[in-house]
Order: sequence, then structure tokens, then C-alpha cells
Amino acid sequence: MSTPEISVVIPVYNEEAGLQNLFDRLYPALDALGAAYEVLFVNDGSRDRSAALLREQFERRPDVTRAILLAANAGQHMAIMAGFEHARGQIIVTLDADLQNPPEEIGKLIAKMREGHDYVGSIRRKRQDSLFRTWASKAMNRLREKITRIKITDQGNMLRAYSRSVVDAINSCKEVSTFIPALAYTFARHPTEVVVEHEERAAGESKYSLYSLIRLNFDLMTGFSLVPLQWFSMLGILVSLGSAALFLLLIARRLILGPEAEGLFTLFALAFFLIGLTLFGIGLLGEYVGRVYQQVRHRPRYLIEAVLEKTE
Ligand code: UDP
Ligand code: MG
Repeated sequence: MSTPEISVVIPVYNEEAGLQNLFDRLYPALDALGAAYEVLFVNDGSRDRSAALLREQFERRPDVTRAILLAANAGQHMAIMAGFEHARGQIIVTLDADLQNPPEEIGKLIAKMREGHDYVGSIRRKRQDSLFRTWASKAMNRLREKITRIKITDQGNMLRAYSRSVVDAINSCKEVSTFIPALAYTFARHPTEVVVEHEERAAGESKYSLYSLIRLNFDLMTGFSLVPLQWFSMLGILVSLGSAALFLLLIARRLILGPEAEGLFTLFALAFFLIGLTLFGIGLLGEYVGRVYQQVRHRPRYLIEAVLEKTE
């Protein structure tokens, strides 16, 4: 395999049910592009037969297939990082393994890249996910727009293309918790977006529970902005000013009206509200501190068990 023009990086975690479908559609779509390509699967520590299926596919198409087998689950974005470090193409495309991103759309991204863009994002024309997912993801999208400088219309979609220079920049980052499309955006100089189709998951289930989705969104918010912390400082200032005003008011009432002892429940309501706010603030601080802690330990971000590739 001489250096290909296009590398397609696909993270795979427990996708045995859908992999054959993916192979059946991906390779014809890429062959049709008429460019030299490689497909780089990253098995993210799957506990099902995914690794065996990838090995079979590698044996079937060793000329254009490579597979990195991670020793343990490192998460989708770290798996893509591992893929990026091994990708050899000038244009690097990321894609989900579950066929929610139709492989036939890759051509659109490549065409845009050839026009000179170094980052091509994609917007799902009609998203095929549960109502809750779609709604929650829209809300997070809006929040991200407010607190970071990253301009991505549809952040949840992984069908994207990056130039060699953007991927090299990403490879020089050693962060342990990240969000690839956002990280890439910070290095892109001529980003653009195209509208693509979106399909329902072909087989298997989403690998993201509500909990892991929340964690992923914290990675995005904390990884690209300090604004949440600053909002809390501002809120603290406002609450202090408010309580100073309340204190003055109570003093005045004490002097004019004499002693008063009503309003116990108002006091409770106020106290609970402020305790809630404080706990949220501490939690938020913890999200940052915890990530700093993970980062300073310098543990390897992922362990590679094997790389399947044709040696020249
Ligand atoms: N994935 C992964 N490691 C993980 C979770 C997911 O490599 O820990 C892969 C998964 O196999 C798929 C992609 O990331 O190729 C997106 O996952 P999924 O489709 O479950 O996410 P959703 O579409 O529900 O956001
Ligand atoms: Mg999916």
C-alpha cells in the first residue's frame, strides 16, 4: 500500500451485528471515488466478535484495509485519535461504524476538500435518532455556541473530513479527554460544511448511555472553554450583592418596624436554592479539576494490542 490520498477512520465498539453491512456498502462507495484510499478500523476494545470480523475483512482486502486493535475500551474520541496517529492519507475522513452516516456521502466531503478546504463538517438533513436525543443534542449545540468559539452547526455528527495539516496538529495534542470535531475546528483555517443524509442505526444499539452522553458533553464544554467557571464567579458576585441589599433592607425594617420572625419557609427556599447552586458550582469545578488530574498522570491514552496491516 503506497501512500493513499484518502484515509477513512472508523471506530468500532461492539458492532458485530452491523459490520458486514458496513463492509458491503463502504468499499463499493470508496472504489467508486476512483482515488487511492485506505480504511482504518480502530477496534475500541470490543467484547463481541468485532475484532474477528475486522481481521476477516483485512484478509479479504489487505490492499486497502488496516485495523488497529486497542487492548481496552478507550472511548470513541480516543479511538479516533489512535486512528489519526496511524492514518497515512492527505484527506482523513471519520465515520461511524453503525451506518448512520451513509458511506455514499463521503464523495461530497472529498469534493469540498479538493476545492481547498481543510475541514469539511456535515449537517444531518434529517436526523434519525430518538426525539429525546435530537432535542438534547440541539440544546447542547446551542449551549456550546454560547460558551465556546467553535462554530459547528451540528456537533454530534462524526461524518467529517480533515486535511493532513489539521490531523498533524491534532496528533501533536496529548489531551486525554477531547472532542475531535471541536479540536479539529480550532486548527482549521478554511472550514466549511455540507448537508448529508442520516440513517437509523442499521443494527445493534447506541453505545452511549445518558450518563456517557453527559460525560462527553462535559468533555466538550470543559475542553474548549472556561466560560462556565467565569459564569459561576459572576453569579457569586451577583448573589453577594443581592444578599448585601437584603441585609440592609432587614436592618431598616428592624429599626422601623421592630423585631420580626416570619418568613421561615422563604428562608428555607432561599437556602436550598443557594445550596443547590453551590453544589453545582463545586461539581463543575470538579469536572475541570478531575480532567487536570487525569492529564497530569500522563498515563497512556490507549493501549494497542495489534495492528493489522500489509507489510511491504
Ligand atoms: N464507539 C467507540 N467506542 C465507544 C463508544 C462508541 O468506538 O466507547 C463507536 C461506535 O462503535 C460507533 C461510533 O463510535 O462507530 C458512534 O457510536 P454510536 O453510534 O453508539 O453513538 P450514537 O450514534 O448513538 O451517538
Ligand atoms: Mg450511531
